Amino acid sequence: MAKIPYRFYLTEEQMPKQWYNLRADMKEQPDPLLNPADLKPLKEEDLYPIFCKELAHQEMDSETAYYDIPDEILEMYKIYRPSPLIRAYNLEKELGTPAKIYYKFEGNNTSGSHKLNSAIAQAYYAKKQGLTSLTTETGAGQWGTALSEACSYFKLPLTVFMVKCSYEQKPFRKAIMQTFDANVIPSPSNTTEVGRKILESNPDTTGSLGCAISEAVEKAVTTEGCRYVLGSVLNQVLLHQSIIGLEAEKAMNILGEYPDVVIGCAGGGSNLGGLIAPFMRDKIKGEKDIRIVAVEPASCPSFTRGKYAYDFCDTGKVTPMAKMYTLGCSFMPSANHAGGLRYHGMSPILSKLYHDGYMEAVSYEQTKVFEAAKLFARVETILPAPESSHAIRCAIDEALKCKETGEEKTILFGLTGTGYFDMTAYNAFNEGTMSDYIPTDEDLQKGFDALPKVE
Ligand SMILES: *Cc1c(COP(=O)(O)O)cnc(C)c1O
Repeated sequence: MAKIPYRFYLTEEQMPKQWYNLRADMKEQPDPLLNPADLKPLKEEDLYPIFCKELAHQEMDSETAYYDIPDEILEMYKIYRPSPLIRAYNLEKELGTPAKIYYKFEGNNTSGSHKLNSAIAQAYYAKKQGLTSLTTETGAGQWGTALSEACSYFKLPLTVFMVKCSYEQKPFRKAIMQTFDANVIPSPSNTTEVGRKILESNPDTTGSLGCAISEAVEKAVTTEGCRYVLGSVLNQVLLHQSIIGLEAEKAMNILGEYPDVVIGCAGGGSNLGGLIAPFMRDKIKGEKDIRIVAVEPASCPSFTRGKYAYDFCDTGKVTPMAKMYTLGCSFMPSANHAGGLRYHGMSPILSKLYHDGYMEAVSYEQTKVFEAAKLFARVETILPAPESSHAIRCAIDEALKCKETGEEKTILFGLTGTGYFDMTAYNAFNEGTMSDYIPTDEDLQKGFDALPKVE
């Protein structure tokens, strides 16, 4: 067999033409979304006021295993996909490990992350339905950037409610979104009722993700032809992100490889759910015995210390309730947390798989994560996003274990994006001012006490 190349790209013909819906092969389904008003399971039609129809259908469909990707979406995917599958020869050498390390790099587009894969799909279906605008919220700005890119491509007006402190601290994120013609509004704003109320009682607030979601949802339901879109957690987002795993599986297959361990960072679970989709399918069917590992920050440990319970998907409690691993919807990581992945809950699909023992989870403190990021940047010459660096940390530790045992394992991890807008965090690490904080059991208990009572 010829030597495996450093960077491997599928050809255009080899690119997957379908997404894969993991729910179709799960032995047991995740619990249904509930309407908070009467605690009854939601029906597809109940979602129509918030999501466009095709996306509402995808959200509820647990039976169709493969969805044809519409040609218009494939055309845009081709601009920046396939993403490369990279053999981390340099990292392997640096670690002196017998393990083979591969990573799937999703940072090769202007948005700098995997989020564009779902943004394109969501913008396309909205346009196709004849909707005339979309709204969303963004915290750090990656999702808002990806959606701005997709909406400008499909000529669909977009309003982004950006948490006010990010709006002020990340002017370049805002500038990219505006370049792609998005209307970026610092939240809370006086353009919505909920925003005006918050400003009245707290004029100096710097905003929160929960507040931005509430504003975006209000704008969607009160504007003709407008819908709200979300960049993670949802089943439809995991479906779109399956393109990552399907490409990785196909590329590895061509190279004569199959992973023993698949590793991904977990915020709301969309990149991880997408990366593992085909490998989890093989595992569920009993065809492969592999390990699948979710990596999260010790300061926001939804899987490793959260509760599997019904909770709201947002801090503002305007969304349906989902059964998931959660820290409680009012949970906020401590102020010194810089590594992203700060969402309180986790994808219901991944939560169910974790609960049923199909996957593992680990957590790391952020200084350990940035150490790994710096080592990786030096030898692989890509500046990783702090989020992605959680997966790097875990892959390095797995490779070091192989060094001890002499096992030649094949490790695959997801490198979800680049870190150019996170230089404040890198600065803190380089200057030695970055610190770690692990919430105490008492800290977490406050979030659990506030969980909605559903029985
Ligand atoms: C948003 C983001 C994540 C986390 O989101 P998931 O839905 O858990 O995948 C990870 N990496 C990058 C670069 C991101 O922008």
